[in-house]
Amino acid sequence: MNLLIMGPPGAGKGTQSEVLVNELKIPHISTGDMLREAVKQGTEMGKKAKEYMDKGQLVPDSVIIGVVKERLALPDCKVGFLLDGFPRTVPQAEALDQTLLDLGIKLNAVININVPRERIVARLTGRRVCRSCGATYHVLFNKPKDEGKCDKCGGELYQRSDDTEQTVNNRLDVYEAQTQPLIDYYNRQGLVLNINGDQEISGVLSDIMGALKK
Ligand code: ADP
Ligand code: AMP
Repeated sequence: MNLLIMGPPGAGKGTQSEVLVNELKIPHISTGDMLREAVKQGTEMGKKAKEYMDKGQLVPDSVIIGVVKERLALPDCKVGFLLDGFPRTVPQAEALDQTLLDLGIKLNAVININVPRERIVARLTGRRVCRSCGATYHVLFNKPKDEGKCDKCGGELYQRSDDTEQTVNNRLDVYEAQTQPLIDYYNRQGLVLNINGDQEISGVLSDIMGALKK
């Protein structure tokens, strides 16, 4: 299946993706993860991206579009993919359409996780991520068994530098102005599956699986 997962920062895209890609046996392509890896490695792209990410702004389309094009052309995407965090702007969505056309691939669905803005600050300021495997936790809503340690691989949990209250608010403004309009873009293509993300993690997952089966 060729899928997009959308929704505001903190909607639960990464959390749901971890399980979905195992169930569906497709690669998880997260542009946020790819950019954070580039920052960690100190690549040219990482250096350029860091200043935008720290402020909660989007990195320029010219930086991210080429990376996604290359990623989707790799052989593991032949069985499908779950694209998370891309597209975030109209030019990105148009570039994605063209890339998929060139590769002879069609999107099957766009999973759109809805969560009210007032819930999101608490979700993101309490988020913790595993430094080794990238698994996501929350200090209150999805606690690891041992504080500060990943259940899956034992790796150290850290707080993302952009998960502060100020940056979260910027990211939400950017989402509303630049990314939310894409839901209409995909509605016009009849692809959107609207999911209530304001419920327990397991409830969100079963709603997504149910919607994909229809
Ligand atoms: P996104 O990838 O959309 O930015 P995440 O999956 O990283 O969001 O989730 C953001 C934070 O909210 C994480 O700390 C995660 O554990 C927590 N979270 C995810 N889904 C839920 C949920 N349904 N209820 C409560 N907290 C959640
Ligand atoms: P995320 O992990 O999806 O929350 O993304 C973290 C940050 O990476 C965002 O705030 C942006 O600065 C940057 N980013 C991730 N994906 C994109 C994208 N498709 N376009 C522009 N910037 C992105």
